[in-house]
Amino acid sequence: MIEDSFMHKGLRRKLVEQVKSKGIKDQRILDAMMKIPRHAFMDSSFLKFAYQDQAFPISSGQTISQPFTVAFQTELIDIQIHQKVLEVGTGSGYQAAILAELGARVFTIERIRKLYQEAQTIHRELGSQVKFFLGDGYQGLPSFAPFDRILITAAAHAIPEALKQQLVVGGILVAPIGERDFQVMTKCVKTSMDIFEISTHGNFVFVPMKEGLE
Ligand code: SAH
Repeated sequence: MIEDSFMHKGLRRKLVEQVKSKGIKDQRILDAMMKIPRHAFMDSSFLKFAYQDQAFPISSGQTISQPFTVAFQTELIDIQIHQKVLEVGTGSGYQAAILAELGARVFTIERIRKLYQEAQTIHRELGSQVKFFLGDGYQGLPSFAPFDRILITAAAHAIPEALKQQLVVGGILVAPIGERDFQVMTKCVKTSMDIFEISTHGNFVFVPMKEGLE
């Protein structure tokens, strides 16, 4: 059972205020962050780090994204209720939980089996409807495409071709694009079958997107 006490809620309220003060305006996202117990997605011995606005190591050498970054990517991708969303890089499962809380139908893909399993266990306990896949995000999920939104939460050198194809016309893809230690948050709006409008939104650092299963 996941414990969510007054103390956790108090810490979470402070975190949400911090994220808001850094520029996140969408109240739906702030409400979702207030609702989802981030500490459930981290080892219980790191409780005091769960509600700091920082990325933090999870297992298998990966990280749970910084709360501000989760909120920023979520705001950029402009989720509407009932939309079909593909997340690449399940990691802890926290970002997927925020997307689901916003009313999206979330499909999330992870290349490391241990993370894929752990995230599912937490989501099951939280009663979530997110669908989990073990696979290579570079390939996307062709049998479930097209998606209204695609969110990549690992650093890629370029937007993967298969993912561009799996986006609906009018859809939005958001990804940190760049080299290993420096990426530019990139928003890509698919305006027709082969035209993408690209805009950039500041610098971030994510763990790398790697090919194939671990
Ligand atoms: N969204 C996550 C943060 C993930 S960190 C969260 O909320 O916690 C990035 C994740 O992407 C890591 O777990 C990493 O294993 C995964 N990843 C990297 N390359 C991938 C690929 N090609 N396909 C699927 N997942 C990938």
